[in-house]
Amino acid sequence: MKAMVAVKRVIDYNVKIRVRSDGSGVETAGVKMSMNPFDEIALEEAVRLKEAGTVSEVIAVSMGASACQETLRTALAVGADRAILVETDADLQPLAVSRMLSVLAKREEVSLLFLGKQAIDDDANQTGQMAAGFLGWPQGTFLSSLKVDGTHLVVEREVDGGLESLRLAIPAVLTADLRLNEPRYASLPNIMKAKKKPLETVTPADLGVDPAPRLKVLSLAEPPARAGGIRVPDVATLVAKLHSEAKVI
Ligand code: AMP
Repeated sequence: MKAMVAVKRVIDYNVKIRVRSDGSGVETAGVKMSMNPFDEIALEEAVRLKEAGTVSEVIAVSMGASACQETLRTALAVGADRAILVETDADLQPLAVSRMLSVLAKREEVSLLFLGKQAIDDDANQTGQMAAGFLGWPQGTFLSSLKVDGTHLVVEREVDGGLESLRLAIPAVLTADLRLNEPRYASLPNIMKAKKKPLETVTPADLGVDPAPRLKVLSLAEPPARAGGIRVPDVATLVAKLHSEAKVI
């Protein structure tokens, strides 16, 4: 069976995000970009299944500007066999991404569609769930473990109260949470080899999807700067302030 992994190019998690002066979005010019960390985990899981002989091919997919090719080359260096770039300058939102992923998953006849549980730029946590809806496939979200059991998957999900175990029929949509695995780094020889692996470019129109955004961001602002701390002389004053000023007790 084949696996597809959605990898998004996002602002690197170490970068301090700055809002554009006109409030139209966050500054991306000259900013370090990387693969979304949860997608690294999703990719690692798919590559491990390939190494175990459970999966025959891993296809990485990224959607956005042509620079997403860098993210795809990283995915190929980590172990994906081939890559598909859906190239567009449109402001992509989860609805369009999930539609396009579902079209590609059907076109490529994959059995497992892996995503990160959320992208660290929009924090939407919607794409996997909506892709499962479009495909009509079961979904295992927030995964902390995954085992293949014949025609089914046994997964553990991270939920508020602990862990939930599910048995899902294949094909399925799976989204990776932090504890699923520890992703590897791409080695230099594999980075070189990845340059020769196939990377196909398609457009949203080729997939029959209109990528136009349905939601409009009205404004974006930095959170207010934190006020400095104060020292209090004793516990009684601390308790009084927590009550009267912070209103936490
Ligand atoms: P979100 O629903 O936006 O939080 O994103 C959840 C997951 O969907 C991400 O971790 C990626 O696996 C996938 N995804 C979202 N946007 C894209 C994109 N533009 N290209 C590839 N994958 C994406």
